[in-house]
Amino acid sequence: MTEITGHTRVAAVIGWPVDHSLSPPMQNAAIRALGLDWVYIALPVHPSHLRVAVEGARVLGMIGINCTIPHKESVIPYLDELDQTARAIGAVNTIHIKPDGKLIGHNTDAYGFTQTVMAEGELILKGTTVLIIGAGGVARGMSAGAAMEGAKKIILANRTRERAEKIAGDLAPIFHETQWEVVQLSPSSLRNAAGRSQLIANATSLGMTANDPLPIEAESIAPDQVVFDTVYSTPETPLLKAAKSRGAICVGGAGMLARQGAKSLALWSGLQPDEDLMLSVLQKHLRARATSS
Ligand code: NAP
Repeated sequence: MTEITGHTRVAAVIGWPVDHSLSPPMQNAAIRALGLDWVYIALPVHPSHLRVAVEGARVLGMIGINCTIPHKESVIPYLDELDQTARAIGAVNTIHIKPDGKLIGHNTDAYGFTQTVMAEGELILKGTTVLIIGAGGVARGMSAGAAMEGAKKIILANRTRERAEKIAGDLAPIFHETQWEVVQLSPSSLRNAAGRSQLIANATSLGMTANDPLPIEAESIAPDQVVFDTVYSTPETPLLKAAKSRGAICVGGAGMLARQGAKSLALWSGLQPDEDLMLSVLQKHLRARATSS
């Protein structure tokens, strides 16, 4: 590690809890490669201390902050400005602290998702139909990202249908060139929706534990479709294993995590971080974690 001196500046991820975060090793590897005299740490911030923590960051000369669960939406009232993407998504995962202390909120999850399916799935999102299963925070960012890249239609399916309808209702007026559809989370509805889609994306937490059912039946997946799984706790999730057996192009969630982090670092530094390095550091830690559990 570069020696920490009086000149070293700090960036951090805040969450509650946050000790599981793999952002510190991933970000510090990229920071070192860029030759920056910065250090990136994880800071546990209880929800009741969020305002004080953000105000503290403003005056401590910090570079920037990543926000993770549960702060992505609740941090917004404490910021000075939001960029267009964060405004559309209604959530912030990156705060840029400007030299004058102004706090600008960004959301790089959408970039992480779209760049990953385009780079690793070799899919051009413009003009495609995308099926997103799930309607939590990640699904909202993924939906906005796909729409920003010019997806023709986004089909949302979620166990709690109202959450999918809320995403479609919020994003349709902003991305009015994209068609929005909500379908039931039933095998037949998913089969029908998958049959009309070039990309099937799991944005539920299904797959994080060994006995979870698949978010969609394997038989609904066709060869040459791209299947993306946001879950990154194992390199090959049950969904990706099933998709591979069907001849689909499989893309895991680690790439999204690495690219959203790279975009944050790019916003703070004005430099282009090494995304491949960040992904390889992340994968190394994920493999170590999988072996030890
Ligand atoms: P969230 O807001 O809590 O949403 C969870 C989603 O999963 C909801 O749609 C929920 O449906 C659904 N779900 C949970 N259990 C289910 C079940 N038994 N059957 C069907 N649906 C179920 O969480 P999130 O922040 O969106 O995160 C979702 C996943 O993305 C997590 O696994 C997380 O690890 C992963 N993630 C990945 C990245 C990345 O960069 N790759 C980044 C952040 C998160 P209901 O609405 O019906 O509850």
